[in-house]
Amino acid sequence: MVGTPCQMVAATKMDKLLNEEFPVDIKIGLFCMENFSYSYMKEMLKEYDADMKDVLECRVEKGHVWFFLTEDRTVKIPLSKAKKCVRKNCTVCMDFTSELSDVSVGSVGSPEGWSTVIIRTEKGLKLIEAAEKDNYIQTKPIADSGLKIMEKLAKEKKSKSKEEIKKRERVGRPVLYRREIFGNEYENEVSNCTFHDLKGDVVDIGACVLCGACVYACPEEAVAIKDRKPELVGKCVEGCNACYVACPRTYIPDEILSKESDNKPFGDYIKIVSVKAPMVKGQDGGVATALLTYVLSSNIVDNAIIVDKSSIEPWKPEAKITDNIAEVLKASGTKYSACPIFKPLKESKEGGS
Ligand code: SF4
Ligand code: SF4
Ligand code: SF4
Repeated sequence: MVGTPCQMVAATKMDKLLNEEFPVDIKIGLFCMENFSYSYMKEMLKEYDADMKDVLECRVEKGHVWFFLTEDRTVKIPLSKAKKCVRKNCTVCMDFTSELSDVSVGSVGSPEGWSTVIIRTEKGLKLIEAAEKDNYIQTKPIADSGLKIMEKLAKEKKSKSKEEIKKRERVGRPVLYRREIFGNEYENEVSNCTFHDLKGDVVDIGACVLCGACVYACPEEAVAIKDRKPELVGKCVEGCNACYVACPRTYIPDEILSKESDNKPFGDYIKIVSVKAPMVKGQDGGVATALLTYVLSSNIVDNAIIVDKSSIEPWKPEAKITDNIAEVLKASGTKYSACPIFKPLKESKEGGS
C-alpha cells in the first residue's frame, strides 16, 4: 500500500496487534505535512470563482496550494490562507516522513524530477535494490543541503505538534497516541475499550484521521464512515476491542513506536537516497507509483491499495484495490484530503478475495 504517515501507523498496529493475519505486505509511506478538509477547500475555491469539478491537478509547492484548472486557469492560494482548511487532527501529528513504513517517499530534499526515499526496513532495502536492478528507478546519494531542508521541516512539524498536544492535554483533550506506554500496561489500558471509548478518545476530540482502520478491524461490521466520521451502526460483541486497538490515534505500545522517536526527525532508518522514476510522472517524482508498478509486475504482491480521484465528486480521494497497472498509473499524484484507505480492504475481506 501507499499512504500517509498516519495510515502507516494504523497498518503497523493492525499487523502487530490484531489477532488475525493482516494482508498488507509492503508499506510505502509518503511525506505529509498536513491534509486539507475537502469541504472547506471546495468552499474556499468558490472565493476564487473556481469549482472543484474544473480542477485538473492540485499541488502544494513554494508556499502555495496550486489548482490547475480547465481552460488553462491556475488558482494559487497562499498556504497561510489555506491553513484554515487543515484538518484538526493534523495539528497533533508529529510524523512528517512516515516513520513506520518500509520505505518513505517525498519530494522534499531532492532536485526537481527526483524524490527523496528513506529506506527503513530490510524489506524496503531489497525492494529498492531490485526495482533499480530492473530499471524501474535510479538512485543517487542525497545532497547534504537536501537533508538539512528535510530535517528542518520534520523538526518543525514535531515541535509544533508537541506544543499543540501539550495545549490539548491542559484543557482535558488528551492525545493518547504519543503517551509513553509499554507491553502489560498497554494491554491493561486497552483491554476493555470498545467503540464507545474510541469515539470519546479520538473522534469527539478531533483526532480522527479518517483512515477507516476501525471499519476494517471490526469483526461485526458494526462501524461505518458516515458524514466523514466513523459511527457505530451495529451491535458490539462482548470483550471486543479491535477498533480501539487498530486506531492510529489511540495508545501505541513503545515496542511499536518508541517515545524516543519524538526526538528523531526522521525516525529510524537504514539510509536516505534521491530516486528518479523516469517512466512515471507524479509529484513525488513518480517513485511511489513506479514501486507499486514494479511489485505488481514482478508478482511480489497480488494487489495494491491506491487512492484515486472519486468518479462522483471531483478531486475527492477514493481508495480502491487493484491489480491493474493502468489504474495505478492513472491514480499517480498526491491527493490533499483524507480518505478511509482501509475501507476497500474490508470489502475485499468480506468478498473473500
Ligand atoms: S494526521 Fe494529517 S498530517 Fe499526519 S499523516 Fe495524517 S494526514 Fe498527514
Ligand atoms: S465489535 Fe466492532 S465496534 Fe464493537 S468494539 Fe469490536 S471492533 Fe469496535
Ligand atoms: S477513529 Fe477510525 S477512522 Fe478515525 S483514526 Fe481511528 S481508526 Fe481511523
